[in-house]
Amino acid sequence: MELVKENIAAVPQLRSAKRWMPKQVLITPAALDEPWGRQMYERVQALGLPVQELKQNRITGLRGEDERETYRKAKSTLAIVTAPPSALKLQPIPPSADYQFHLAEGCPAHCQYCYLAGSLQGPPVIRAFANLPTILQNLTQYRRPGQPTTFEASCYTDPLGIEHLTGSLVETIRFFGEQEDMHLRWVSKFDQVDGLLSLPHHGHTHPRISLNADFISRRMEGGTASLEARLAAIRKLALPQAAGGGGYKVGLVIAPIMAIPDWEEQYTHLLDRLAQTLDFPCAITFELISHRFTPGSKALLQEWYPNTLIDFDETNRSMKFNKFGGKKYVYDASTMGQLRSFFYAQLKARFPQAPILYWT
Ligand code: SF4
Repeated sequence: MELVKENIAAVPQLRSAKRWMPKQVLITPAALDEPWGRQMYERVQALGLPVQELKQNRITGLRGEDERETYRKAKSTLAIVTAPPSALKLQPIPPSADYQFHLAEGCPAHCQYCYLAGSLQGPPVIRAFANLPTILQNLTQYRRPGQPTTFEASCYTDPLGIEHLTGSLVETIRFFGEQEDMHLRWVSKFDQVDGLLSLPHHGHTHPRISLNADFISRRMEGGTASLEARLAAIRKLALPQAAGGGGYKVGLVIAPIMAIPDWEEQYTHLLDRLAQTLDFPCAITFELISHRFTPGSKALLQEWYPNTLIDFDETNRSMKFNKFGGKKYVYDASTMGQLRSFFYAQLKARFPQAPILYWT
């Protein structure tokens, strides 16, 4: 991978993510029948966005001449739909949480390594679910009384990145705040957290911000907040409510960790900035995820981002099989070992009390 080395000590940029405004909003008849769907409809109308009421419950017409055009059309479309009945049958999601559930599927950002590439069927349109009360109520049957059950809401979307259009994250945090033994987890690369700070979450929500080396954030994570803006967001979430913050127990997901040429310098800078940002007593956790790809995600991502900076060279990687027998490419044992030792040592030095929940 030919990467131009940049001066990481240059003046940090605090660039809030631009709020995503879809070029078109589609709403299905079933979604319009849902009070939460109508609430979203009113929100997007109030923002002056054009809304088309569909005659059928299927979303069609988003395919372009090629994958690039399909991507462009789909990524500028918000579809307000009802989640299918299968969404109410929850799947486990180790090591992140006990179960995953979805407020939406699809994401307005443009990460060149996107985890969703190849995991969702069809064009990458952003679908927000209108039957939120049913989705939330359904979670309670998965609760294990007496021991906290964790629910991850960001496997297929970035819920904060579309919150101004849906309101679903605030509603979900409020819902979990009222539940016993149920904990909500979500993660974001966006920074508009002000609307979450005064919510009665009662410690039942564990927000995480996804961070990466500044070079990776700026060059490979289009449409997201800058590293400095994400650090400011995590600080706000973690500060006590009495001090104007959210009083949340927060998490940092460092992902995907990439062995770019100056990775040690880049990630040292990231961890130094994080330590400077969280300079007050707070409960934090870390999750560490190294970069990986599959043959399918590589093919799709290279069509979506023909000038990608991501190193997709399989000859530098070890091949592994996932639990369904599909191939994935991860760093070879030596690179993986170096990255892992670096993070464990550097985090221990800066955040000795903070658990590292997993490395993968
Ligand atoms: S924020 Fe996550 S889901 Fe959204 S484009 Fe980036 S990697 Fe994909």
